[in-house]
Amino acid sequence: MTTVLFENSVFLDHETPFGHPECADRLVAIKTALSGNLFKALLRQASIEGRAEDILRVHTQAYVAQLEKISPKQGLAYIDADTILSKGSLKAAYHGAGAACQAVDALMQGQAKNAFIASRPPGHHAETATAMGFCLFNNAAIAARYAQATYAAERIAIIDFDVHHGNGTQEIFWDDASVLYCSSHQMPLFPGSGAKSETGKHGTVVNVPLNNGDGSEQFRDAYEHVILPRLAAFRPDLIILSAGFDAHMHDPLGGLNLDEADFAWVTEEIMNIAALNCQSRIISVLEGGYNLQALGKSVAAHVSVLQTA
Ligand SMILES: [Zn+2]
Repeated sequence: MTTVLFENSVFLDHETPFGHPECADRLVAIKTALSGNLFKALLRQASIEGRAEDILRVHTQAYVAQLEKISPKQGLAYIDADTILSKGSLKAAYHGAGAACQAVDALMQGQAKNAFIASRPPGHHAETATAMGFCLFNNAAIAARYAQATYAAERIAIIDFDVHHGNGTQEIFWDDASVLYCSSHQMPLFPGSGAKSETGKHGTVVNVPLNNGDGSEQFRDAYEHVILPRLAAFRPDLIILSAGFDAHMHDPLGGLNLDEADFAWVTEEIMNIAALNCQSRIISVLEGGYNLQALGKSVAAHVSVLQTA
């Protein structure tokens, strides 16, 4: 009874154009990386489609209706230059939201200590009413609001170590003091938000921008001196990770210089705080990570630490 892995072949059916970094092969790389003996103890569960009511705690009805309307029967529909719908995209997005809620159920009902959700498209750029940056539904936000609505989880912390700033998560929880949003990310970089001065209406948004070329030392400093103390002081009832692995040194989209050991380190540090505050409950939702080999290795490092809970 430790780590539950949510997966589903429907996540492969979200198609993006040839050469797009956010491709189905990412999940193939993750599946291979998590197939060894080291991962035999994972509780593997198939995702189910998320319910409209769970998605509508985060996104507007008009936004969801618009996605349904432009969802193509064949070919691709472009929301912007980066964010694309194929025939299978919306179903994959619904399953990402569903898995986020299933993970909350599994942890709050004591079936597992923590969870990793191997879903795509990613979510942290999706705002209340805007799809962008490859993202349709903000799965981390959906999990947070579902946990608050369904269980006695009052304070939720979302920690985002993707190389990009999670503008969507920040926008959704900007004036919500019950959710702490902490992000380390490269700046300047897409989407352009995430300055240190952006702290939310109640001071519960914590941004630690890093410079192009920064590596392990600056990343660990950001956590040791800013994010981990804020997380511990918040005393969360549940921790959600926006787990992007594109701050890896080999990632084509980011300029940070982390490696697998840094992802393992930050996972363990957050787990220590989870053990003290919320019976070790951590839901880790896949965000970015675009070098297939680095992504596989990084997820393997992350999940093998999660398994020690
Ligand atoms: Zn990213």
